[in-house]
Amino acid sequence: MTSAYHTDLHMHSRFAYATSRNLTLPVLDATAREKGVRVMGTGDFTHPAWFEELRTQLVPAPEEGLHVRRDADQHAATRFLLSVEVSCVYRQGGRARRIHVLVMLPTLPAAAAFTRALEERGADLGIDGRPTLGLSAKAVAELALTVEPTALVVPAHVWTPWFGALGSKSGFDSLAECFEDLVPQVLAAETGLSADPAMCWQVSSLDAVALLSSSDAHGPRTVARETTRLEGELSYPGIREAFRTGSPARAAERAAAPTRLAGTVEFYPAEGKYHLDGHREHGVRMTPAQRRAAGGRCPVCGKPVTVGVLSRVEELADRPVGTRPEGAPGFRSLVPLDEVLAAALGVRPAAKRVATARARLLEAFGDELSVLTEVPLADVEAAAGARVAEGIGRVRDGEVDVEPGYDGQFGTVHVFPADDAPAAGPHRQASNP
Ligand SMILES: [Zn+2]
Ligand SMILES: [Zn+2]
Repeated sequence: MTSAYHTDLHMHSRFAYATSRNLTLPVLDATAREKGVRVMGTGDFTHPAWFEELRTQLVPAPEEGLHVRRDADQHAATRFLLSVEVSCVYRQGGRARRIHVLVMLPTLPAAAAFTRALEERGADLGIDGRPTLGLSAKAVAELALTVEPTALVVPAHVWTPWFGALGSKSGFDSLAECFEDLVPQVLAAETGLSADPAMCWQVSSLDAVALLSSSDAHGPRTVARETTRLEGELSYPGIREAFRTGSPARAAERAAAPTRLAGTVEFYPAEGKYHLDGHREHGVRMTPAQRRAAGGRCPVCGKPVTVGVLSRVEELADRPVGTRPEGAPGFRSLVPLDEVLAAALGVRPAAKRVATARARLLEAFGDELSVLTEVPLADVEAAAGARVAEGIGRVRDGEVDVEPGYDGQFGTVHVFPADDAPAAGPHRQASNP
């Protein structure tokens, strides 16, 4: 039994819109191991073609409720957890709602039963690996919990304006408004790339849920850009217990749980593409105060700007910035290794020199998350040079500058100060996965 491990439970397959063709089970297995992720969501299990691959290529892992590739070395293989993200489009309280919800299940028969239940309600599941349903988030939770009482139902990227359960455009003011009497069975919520736990801690109603982070990757490169770290037993029931006891409200039960939520690995939230407010088409980025001063409108075209995550948190916050509820697991903010290497070497993240440096580091230390978080900097320096070690040190210490993202535009991270740059320019423009 592994004692501490990273999970990345929100993923997509190549059958979801705008995803990489490389998203096959062998690639996901290998990528997760390179990144340092032990348990990976399959994503998209309601899609018939992807489910057929899951059914034929996966077998139960030695640990309850998890799966491994049939042909893989059973000890080292990435553990897969059956997961899907659904898009609920409906009306409630006189408003249009669009809410993304993750559903996780321990067995293929349970996944098949959930899929059948959606089909019986008229869902067309063959179009998109992230199906759009005319069902409420609560109805989806009810179906999942009926099929499998230990189902995990997790509202995805809760703060994003368009599809977050708490988002500015079509969300609610609390998870209780969204899930009503089922809210006690919603054990966790995903913070999303544009927010981090510290932002969520300002909203006391979120003390009832564990805060998860995951990559929501649409291609192999972005796997593990956010993760949730667990300690203890590796199994579906263990993961569920870690979520159940991962909230500040249930912190007292945590010590007795077989598996515990140890914290999350985060993007710098300003790097997320909905962090600030603005209108991307006109290059207008605004802080919440600037948006209020402008009457909420783009100064170029006069249209209402997209209200981002920071504003939305401010709106719902009932605690000051800097509050940390007792019993809240911690987090650390990182920059993906390729981006750090690119900054240190003065090349683009896709450059060959980055791949060479990464290969050297993986050979020496095993996986990317270990390099980013644990390996002593002197060892990093010996393997990849002083500049790379300095870059990783800066990321670990939070000494990076971020030009915030807004209205669908990712932010830009500067690992090194602008006047400290090798010729080719050390910064990156984060790209849409
Ligand atoms: Zn989503
Ligand atoms: Zn505009």
